[in-house]
Amino acid sequence: MDTSTQERVVACPSCNGRSVFSAQNIYRPFCSAHCKNLDLGAWADEAFRLGADAPPDDMPFGDPKAAN
Ligand SMILES: [Zn+2]
Repeated sequence: MDTSTQERVVACPSCNGRSVFSAQNIYRPFCSAHCKNLDLGAWADEAFRLGADAPPDDMPFGDPKAAN
């Protein structure tokens, strides 16, 4: 019943690939530092029009599979 609350996969805003939206992914909602940097560069040129500036961090995490 709790399988959907452990982690969530979203589309990376930069490359549109799969990005794990969890506390373990410090680059969320991006899939990697590379995509995050690319998107920050785009923001500097275009207008900041994303409304998600504060993703929720209160979801329970305990899956160490992505650690290290
Ligand atoms: Zn990406």
